[in-house]
Amino acid sequence: MSTMRNRSLSFSRKPDDKHRAHSSDKYASRRIGRIVSVLQAIHGSPDHGNKADALDELIYIVLSQMTTIKSCGRVFDRLKRVAGEWASLSRMPIQELKSVINDAGLSHQKSRHIKAIIRRIAADFGTTDLSPLCCMSDVDALKYLTSLPGVGVKTAKCVLLFSLRRSVLPVDTHVARVGRRLGLINADVPKCRFHDALEDAITPRNRYSFHVNAIAHGQRVCLARNPRCHACPLRRQCPSFLDPR
Ligand code: SF4
Repeated sequence: MSTMRNRSLSFSRKPDDKHRAHSSDKYASRRIGRIVSVLQAIHGSPDHGNKADALDELIYIVLSQMTTIKSCGRVFDRLKRVAGEWASLSRMPIQELKSVINDAGLSHQKSRHIKAIIRRIAADFGTTDLSPLCCMSDVDALKYLTSLPGVGVKTAKCVLLFSLRRSVLPVDTHVARVGRRLGLINADVPKCRFHDALEDAITPRNRYSFHVNAIAHGQRVCLARNPRCHACPLRRQCPSFLDPR
């Protein structure tokens, strides 16, 4: 009897549970939609110097690691001027390449990666450009890009988002910090799933806007140390207001 009652209770709960989960999903996605709109209104999708051409973007993002946008832009322009065509970098002595990009920092590592990337692309496609990726699915293009020397998921997703117009979310330190402090994903999501979970939480059509505006928010307002919470237009919706981690 008690088994029967428990079973029927559990059956009768199911629709309610489903309804509750559905409403809380709806609430969460509405909340995230509002946050995306506020970030867009504050920062207006600024240009971070990203490139329309996929190989330009790849080299730009490799150069951007651990440096400012301003310095990265300057070094990228200089490298492009000196190289003429990216294919010529495969023949440029490593010391020369290193000295051209020296002020972008980590020049030893970056010069080796750039040279190896150019050689791999030329060997794989018979040309030094990434247009063959246009015919690939998001998953295959991501797999190919992350197989290149020194290219991680964030760099690969920048190429997919900015040059191939795919609806993915690259997560750098600013995007991760802003997303975490705003509580856009559940606190119990393990660290190794964080980037994927954040991408899943943002609807595909909002990923570009969220990416560029969350970077701006992380650079101007939600700073790593001493965030400007009192001046933040998201303070009423932020579970980390005045208690950021
Ligand atoms: S209220 Fe503070 S912690 Fe929250 S998003 Fe704004 S600056 Fe960041």
